[in-house]
Amino acid sequence: MPFLITQYFTGMIVTIDGPSGVGKSTVTKELATRLGFEYLNTGAMYRAVALAVQRLGVRLTDEAAVTAALPGVHVELPPGCVVLNGENVAHLIRTPELSRGASEVSVHRAVRLMLVAAQRAATTGRDMICDGRDQGSFVFPLAECKFFLIADARVRAERRVGELAAAGQRVSVEDVMRDQDERDRRDAARELAPMAPAPDAVILDTTHLTSKEVIERLENIVRDQRACSRHR
Ligand code: C5P
Repeated sequence: MPFLITQYFTGMIVTIDGPSGVGKSTVTKELATRLGFEYLNTGAMYRAVALAVQRLGVRLTDEAAVTAALPGVHVELPPGCVVLNGENVAHLIRTPELSRGASEVSVHRAVRLMLVAAQRAATTGRDMICDGRDQGSFVFPLAECKFFLIADARVRAERRVGELAAAGQRVSVEDVMRDQDERDRRDAARELAPMAPAPDAVILDTTHLTSKEVIERLENIVRDQRACSRHR
């Protein structure tokens, strides 16, 4: 009787983590297009939870009240949308206020556990690039390719100011830097899943690189890794 060889397709996860304003989402989107992967911008999930809690009039730093509100908060990320309880809120969540709000709610254990479960469920069996703070270190410890991007704080703030200006929002580099610093410190200090490179992550300093150069480097590494996995 001939052997029946069955190959199970499990999908490939690529994680891109790093501090605020380092350019993760731009790199993630373009890399996903080039590789034919889907992508998951996990920061948008924390932003949507902050918006939901804020709308309920709950103080974002009040862990008990935020936790109590969570059963009424449902976040989904179909391509190009951020759906909060059935409403696309993608155009509402990219404000400095919700950047801070997302960072405040992301410290709470129940928020993290809810979103980590949603992130794992959303990626099952898919080729996916996930960007955030804890994707390689906590959410997907077995991801095949992990990246941690870093860049000089002022350069990151200038990039963020440029993005906000393109979206019609005027803010100063100093204000963005202060806010960025506060968020980075909170993200790195929290108890559950703090921002940190996974031990097996490739750390790339993007200070002097264009996003095209960053994307090219990452793309080459992912393609090599994928070719390698297929031969195992
Ligand atoms: O990436 P973005 O700036 O949209 O993320 C907003 C906030 O959400 C971050 O400052 C961080 O506090 C939180 N976050 C997180 N874990 C992730 C993604 C984002 O704690 N995986």
